[in-house]
Amino acid sequence: MSSGTEPAVPDVSRLHPAGGRRSTKRERILGVFLKHEGHLSADDLVALIHREDARISRATVYRTLQWMVDAGVARKVDFGEGRFRFEHSYRHPRHFHLICKSCNRSSEFLSSDIEGLIEEIAAARGFAARQSVLQIYGTCEQCRSGASPRPEPATSEMVFARDAIRIAIATERSGLEFYTRAARATKHVRGRRVFQKLADEERDHLSTLEARYKRLLEQDPELESRPTFLFFKGAANGLFAAGADEVSQGVDDRQALKIGIRCERTSHQFFKRYGGRFEDSEGKQIFLEFADEERRHLDMLLREYIILTKRGTRAKGKKKAGGDRREARGTA
Ligand SMILES: [Zn+2]
Ligand SMILES: [Zn+2]
Repeated sequence: MSSGTEPAVPDVSRLHPAGGRRSTKRERILGVFLKHEGHLSADDLVALIHREDARISRATVYRTLQWMVDAGVARKVDFGEGRFRFEHSYRHPRHFHLICKSCNRSSEFLSSDIEGLIEEIAAARGFAARQSVLQIYGTCEQCRSGASPRPEPATSEMVFARDAIRIAIATERSGLEFYTRAARATKHVRGRRVFQKLADEERDHLSTLEARYKRLLEQDPELESRPTFLFFKGAANGLFAAGADEVSQGVDDRQALKIGIRCERTSHQFFKRYGGRFEDSEGKQIFLEFADEERRHLDMLLREYIILTKRGTRAKGKKKAGGDRREARGTA
């Protein structure tokens, strides 16, 4: 497993056999590998292949695995068992592993906070990180409690999509809270209208996201109860929570706008940067669409800030105009 800057995953659909044509051995091995969600040893893959076609040699499977690793289709994972396992990276988000030493099962998770910290440390040491691996060894919940194992996990793509929507929903909720409070705190009619409009937009998007979440759950009734894949501390109360608190403590119109600009920018940057680094998947799509939406909100607030600043300068005379405009740019 890995995270950080990884080579882009090639378009695997192109590697699939074209309709009608008999597939090559490599294509068939690839097909079996991609169908399997999990961590296969080379021997596991050989066994799976032999169920379909006993004539494909072990050496061919090994060679194809190495080719898949080189092409970025497969990731090689060391689970400390003295042999490597392989997982596919096609529509399979990068992740860290929890590995149970009793039953040897592994489960996957990812944390934007851990990834951020790794980047920070690497940057502080002038280190160009290419891949980071985090394996946590111990005893899993089932082995500790004797509970029966959870049903076979859905694809991690779906769990990732679920968590991406949950994070987007948490952010929308905190955004809605922020704009509702900002509209209340703002004295000027025009500014209030802008905040109200943004609150309405957040409400709209919230219901769109909730509908999308429902559609996703329809594909897998167990999805809601599956363990969290993506941990993101900021999502607990959303990226706008601190801003909402500040606004409640009493701010003027300009301060309210500045706080909104700061929150939208943080949110836009987070979703764009974080989403942009994922393998092609619905979760990635959700993050990138959300980043665009935050960008539009940011632009609306910036336009408003400039108008407000101009209005302020007109009232105060021309002398301060340069300074205010500089300030607006600095905030922008
Ligand atoms: Zn894995
Ligand atoms: Zn276990």
